[in-house]
Amino acid sequence: MSHYMAEYIWIDGSIPTAKMRAKTKIMKEGEELPLWGFDGSSTNQAPGDASDCVLKPVYVIDDPVRGGANKLVLCEVFNTDMTPHASNTRAHCREIAERYQGHESWFGIEQEYTFFDGAKPLGWPDNGFPAPQGGYYCGVGADEVFGRPVVEAHMEACLAAGLQIAGINAEVMPAQWEFQIGPLGPLEVSDQLWMARWLLYRVAEDFGISATLDPKPVLGDWNGAGAHTNFSTKLMRESYDACTQAADALGERASLHIEHYGFGIEKRLTGLHETCSYKEFKWGVSDRGASVRIPWQVQAEGKGYIEDRRPNANCDPYLVTKLIVESVCSVLAG
Ligand code: ADP
Ligand code: MN
Ligand code: MN
Ligand code: MN
Repeated sequence: MSHYMAEYIWIDGSIPTAKMRAKTKIMKEGEELPLWGFDGSSTNQAPGDASDCVLKPVYVIDDPVRGGANKLVLCEVFNTDMTPHASNTRAHCREIAERYQGHESWFGIEQEYTFFDGAKPLGWPDNGFPAPQGGYYCGVGADEVFGRPVVEAHMEACLAAGLQIAGINAEVMPAQWEFQIGPLGPLEVSDQLWMARWLLYRVAEDFGISATLDPKPVLGDWNGAGAHTNFSTKLMRESYDACTQAADALGERASLHIEHYGFGIEKRLTGLHETCSYKEFKWGVSDRGASVRIPWQVQAEGKGYIEDRRPNANCDPYLVTKLIVESVCSVLAG
């Protein structure tokens, strides 16, 4: 009898920002992936005297780390009565995605992150700081970019797993990088982004490097890390008016969005470093100091998509995409 390994992956109940957890199940070839359980008292998801939580496979991909027939299995967390666990934000995203599926929403998410070597960003001097920002974004050379072998290995892993990774680039702060996932529907982009995050941590582990989604890993005159969320509906892909209406609709519920766009957002959305203050909402064409940017090509072509620049790198994409679909599709014609 032949076997394979299924890595069950889930999102825990850590506060203020959830962490990813995973454990391995040995499967017989051809056997269906079953429900599984875990100790919720070790993940902030259950009390010790009623510690069982349920894992339900919802999204399965090839495991590019182990290779072969092995799989990565993203799960939703349920209580033992099979109601969605309080930490299960995917269940809400699922519901809204279904309600508004006629709008054919697409998302492309730009995930920024920072490599750390122990307590300092990778490649930074032991004492003091590297040269100020300016030359690092999309840079090349050992004095400008740090961690490229990890970035390349992660990109290869995403492709081998069948994830829709759109690209990568070195970011404004040294040791900071970005990858993009999409365009895909709300649930699909979120599932894939969580899997790509897990692969990032896992691939970097073998290099002895840690990756963090901390939205402001270095205080001071250094860029924070975001998760710009590009969004369109079928109508927006045909009409510029629909794009500006969508931007206005996001403004109507600005503070609700900010509340759910990731812990520590006020540290990042200061109004400096290509951000708009979290206390304000404004949209603009080509404006990287706006909350929502309409790319210039979109205005020129009279159709396309908008970029919500507010989500933090540590946001939960199930919450972000759910809120955007809800805010925009409840206003826009389907
Ligand atoms: P930036 O110029 O802000 O760095 P990127 O190239 O990093 O932009 O990211 C743009 C993202 O927008 C990509 O992930 C891409 O897939 C996505 N995108 C492109 N067209 C659409 C669309 N119509 N709807 C949603 N997302 C889109
Ligand atoms: Mn980008
Ligand atoms: Mn970026
Ligand atoms: Mn962007």
